[in-house]
Amino acid sequence: MAKKGQTYFCEICRQKVAVIEEGFGVLVCCGQEMKFVAPKGMMETWTTAHHAPDGGVPYVCKVCKQKVRVVAETTGILECCGQKMVREGKIAL
Ligand SMILES: [Zn+2]
Ligand SMILES: [Zn+2]
Repeated sequence: MAKKGQTYFCEICRQKVAVIEEGFGVLVCCGQEMKFVAPKGMMETWTTAHHAPDGGVPYVCKVCKQKVRVVAETTGILECCGQKMVREGKIAL
């Protein structure tokens, strides 16, 4: 289960997110579970990756309220609790 402050990435599209609010759901991207990134070591690889200018776009799960910040954005679809995560700021219909 994701914990606040942890970072996860997708092995397929290389999307990377940081957990802002914990939820009970499992973070999924490109149809598979995102992988936990250890705080040290592997992070070195990411320093050259392009980061979002404003610190990342927040996405939230409407089911478990898990919230993440997209650190390295790709075209991959973020999912949690079996549904797409919603980009925060947009008005939910
Ligand atoms: Zn992905
Ligand atoms: Zn969820």
